[in-house]
Amino acid sequence: MKDKYYLGVDIGSISTKGVIIDEEDNIIASDYLWTEGNPIGAVQKLINSLYEQVKDKDINVVCVGTTGSARYLIGKILDAGVVKNEITAHAIGTMNKVPDVRTIIEIGGQDSKIILIDKNVVVDYNMNTICAAGTGAFLSSQAKRLGVNIEDFGSIALTSKNSPKLSARCSVFAESDLVHKLQMGYKKEDVIRGLCDAIVSNYLNNVAKGKKLYSPIVFQGGVSKNIGVKKAFEEQLETEVTVINDGHLMGALGIAILAKKSKIEKPFSFQIKDIKFKTIGSECNGCSNNCEIVNVYREDKIIDRYGNKCDNGLKV
Ligand code: SF4
Repeated sequence: MKDKYYLGVDIGSISTKGVIIDEEDNIIASDYLWTEGNPIGAVQKLINSLYEQVKDKDINVVCVGTTGSARYLIGKILDAGVVKNEITAHAIGTMNKVPDVRTIIEIGGQDSKIILIDKNVVVDYNMNTICAAGTGAFLSSQAKRLGVNIEDFGSIALTSKNSPKLSARCSVFAESDLVHKLQMGYKKEDVIRGLCDAIVSNYLNNVAKGKKLYSPIVFQGGVSKNIGVKKAFEEQLETEVTVINDGHLMGALGIAILAKKSKIEKPFSFQIKDIKFKTIGSECNGCSNNCEIVNVYREDKIIDRYGNKCDNGLKV
């Protein structure tokens, strides 16, 4: 009998992540790519990439788990056995790497979140999806403005000896503050360091507001690769902050582990990468709300429909 494997897919508005794990939770294949407004296309690319990594091994994926903002749509496409929110998935994935983790700080491309854990259970969390000033997209736009490669941002920040206090309460205000500080004669590295500090104070004053952050603290999401922001967290929290290598894959790992633990078995075929899926918009005319409906087709057969605001809407 072939060994069993599990596929976890974490699909957000910015990025799509996937892992295949074995029975011991070892990641045997993984990838990370941009969603680019096309979650179905991104997942098919992801499955293709994972397939290329394992095709010589002839593995048997027995259950798929999906998480992230498009988890229901992709769950339907992949016929997932388990569909769960990203808070649970991230917590499970991170606890697999750092078993005693108490605080997960995550700053991604367009959102940020905090997850607090006690005795392996999520006890509190908060998400910020509104304020752009404390996210990776904000840092990237400021790097571009300063003519600096975003990959070098953190190491440049660490060379600063005299960083100014910048406001990152709001992205518009932060941008004008940044220009003002440059005009005052601060060097580029000082302003970059100031930005890293401002991202952290924005996070602690908004996302983590009123919460006690216990150690061990794990920092993940795209911005965790920025050593300037990591250092700023350590200074402001006065404690060590851990960045794990596969931090960007924790949601996908967590949902793969949940798929394994569910004991649900649903056959999965990598051929899904070659099947034609499409979404077509329509309107429900059941009442004057005229809800916008998204219809999902596999080849030419409808497999899902969402957007109904009541139970009297269009059915599959
Ligand atoms: S889904 Fe329900 S609320 Fe929306 S238009 Fe149809 S009947 Fe009205």
